[in-house]
Amino acid sequence: MTTDDRPDQLVAVLAPDGPRVLERDEPIVHADDLGLTRGDGCFDATLVRRSGAGSTPAGEADRLGATWTDRTGGFAVLNLERHLARLARSAAGLDLAGVPDAAAWTDLLDAALERWTGTGDTMLKFVVGRGREERPAGPVAYLTLTQLGPGTLDQRAGIGVAALSRGTASDTYVDVPWLLGGNKTIAYALNMAAQREARSRGADDALWTTTDGWCLEGPTSGLVVLRDGVLTTVPTGATGILASITVETLFEAAERDGLGTRHAMIRPADLFEADASWLVSSVRGVAPIRTLDGADVPADPEADARITALSGF
Ligand code: PLP
Repeated sequence: MTTDDRPDQLVAVLAPDGPRVLERDEPIVHADDLGLTRGDGCFDATLVRRSGAGSTPAGEADRLGATWTDRTGGFAVLNLERHLARLARSAAGLDLAGVPDAAAWTDLLDAALERWTGTGDTMLKFVVGRGREERPAGPVAYLTLTQLGPGTLDQRAGIGVAALSRGTASDTYVDVPWLLGGNKTIAYALNMAAQREARSRGADDALWTTTDGWCLEGPTSGLVVLRDGVLTTVPTGATGILASITVETLFEAAERDGLGTRHAMIRPADLFEADASWLVSSVRGVAPIRTLDGADVPADPEADARITALSGF
């Protein structure tokens, strides 16, 4: 509970008989669930706000890439359809059968939002685990709503990043679909380890690099660099990085707003030559990079504000 006694988290599960919002701390996963024991499952995450609190007013959604979808209870969800579509792609990549469709997820979401009393920016996470190993009964599907804490929100004002090797080359993921490149699996232990290592080096987050010297992405975010009016991000595919929905919608909006966009490999040194750079994601939003391995990189607060607005936050 938060100090003022409002719940700061809510869990809702797609039970066989329909959507069900759980009482606090009610268990929903068995000890032999493959999502738990093998990290075998997928998830997706985005942001929930009170309707009208987003920076993309209704009617402007056509001009800007990002879309806030109004749902029940006076809440809106950022890029809901795109996140559900990516979740379905991740499930297909894992050969997961029996995963709820978009209509079932939105029913569950509405049941959860009916009960949600959070006021600030809230993380919405859709989770699918493969289900029980010993008594198979199909995947476990649930969502969580979690109010963001100050630690995450503060990073929208600027972060220091540490460059950390991902241990793979920039073309590792060509023709190896079983490595699940670009797939948002729930096996994020490696991503969390990278963030712990970054923090132990005095940074706020990690920036993954390849063994051949290129940047990839953050452990929970995409990289965007601005130079001479052109936004650059790292290509998906061979690199194995996740196709960031924030980058996708930012680029759509940026092109309509007079900025160039391109997908091209980025060297860590390029961040020092750039006009500004950001780690972007649907929940934390746009986090301006202020230092790389402890050294200042160029910052542009006006560009920060423009990129934040163009990303829909
Ligand atoms: N890359 C990884 C590995 C991520 O986990 C995330 C976010 O969860 C992103 C990039 C950013 O993706 P999005 O903008 O869709 O949130």
